[in-house]
Amino acid sequence: MSASSTPFSMGFKLAEACAIVGAALLGLRLLPLVIDAGVLNVPVAPLMLFGADVLSGVVHWAFDRWGTVETPLVGPNLIRTFREHHTDPLGITRHGFVEANGGPAMGAIVLLGLGYFVPPTFAVAAFWLGAFGFFTNVVLAWAHGAAPRPVRWLQRAGILLSADHHDAHHRAPHDRAYCITTGWANPLLDRLRVWDRLERAISAATGVEPCRG
Ligand SMILES: [Zn+2]
Ligand SMILES: [Zn+2]
Repeated sequence: MSASSTPFSMGFKLAEACAIVGAALLGLRLLPLVIDAGVLNVPVAPLMLFGADVLSGVVHWAFDRWGTVETPLVGPNLIRTFREHHTDPLGITRHGFVEANGGPAMGAIVLLGLGYFVPPTFAVAAFWLGAFGFFTNVVLAWAHGAAPRPVRWLQRAGILLSADHHDAHHRAPHDRAYCITTGWANPLLDRLRVWDRLERAISAATGVEPCRG
C-alpha cells in the first residue's frame, strides 16, 4: 500500500523510488554473506518469514488503528492508503512497481542496514527479514488479484497469504488478520486478542483511542 494522490505524493514517490534502489543495493551487498552461511539459512529463512509476517501485522495494525490522514508525513502517504485498502481492496492491484513497493522498501532498508552492524548470524536473519518484508505488498496484491501459477500453489499450500485467509481482515471492523505476508501469525495473535490488548494498554497509558472501522 502506498500513496496515490496527496500533497506529498511527488516527494514521497521520489523517496519510495530511492528506498527501492537502496534496499536492493543493501540486499545485494549482504548476499555473499548469506550464501556463505550455507545450511544456517535452512532454519533462519522460514523463521524470518514468520517474523516478516508478524512485522507486517504490527505495521498494518499501527496504520489502520492509530493516527489519521492528517497526521504529519505518514498520514497522507501511508495511513491513507492502509485505510483506503478497506474501501477499495483491489486498488493495490492497480499500483505501479514504485507505488506498491516503496513503503515496504523503507522498512527493508532499516532491516537490511542493521545487517551491517550485527554479527554474521544476525546479519543473515536481517537479510531474510528485510527481503521478505520488501515483498509484502506484492504478496498482498497477489491475494487480491491474478497471481502466477507457482504463487497460487504457494497460497494453496499456506506458504503465502491466500485470498481466503486475508478475507477475514476485510470484514468490518477490520480488527483481525492484520498479518499479510503469510498469515501464519494471525490465528495465534487473533486468538490471544493481542491487538485488542495492545490498544487497551496504549489507550490506558496515553488516553488516546484507536481509530475503529
Ligand atoms: Zn487493514
Ligand atoms: Zn486486503
